[in-house]
Amino acid sequence: MQINEFQEMMRHLYFHRDSERGVKGTYDWLVEEVEELREALEEENKEATEREFADVIAWLASLANITGINLEKAALEKYNYKCPKCHQSPCQCKF
Ligand SMILES: [Zn+2]
Repeated sequence: MQINEFQEMMRHLYFHRDSERGVKGTYDWLVEEVEELREALEEENKEATEREFADVIAWLASLANITGINLEKAALEKYNYKCPKCHQSPCQCKF
């Protein structure tokens, strides 16, 4: 499955609900899921971490759907097989 297909699946599943919730409410859910990911990482709980990664990408796709953003297009335009800052692969930017 590619990013486009995942985003379309999320649109099919949740677009009606995401649209009613709106951008602010959906963004807040995404932030909540990112926080839960942090907690799972801190607990070093692999299963919970996996679930939270799934939630984060799901809510990111939902937010993209209701704001009319194509995630795959946006990601590949910025990260097209090279670092957007140094234009190298792998990245050669200094920390
Ligand atoms: Zn770089």
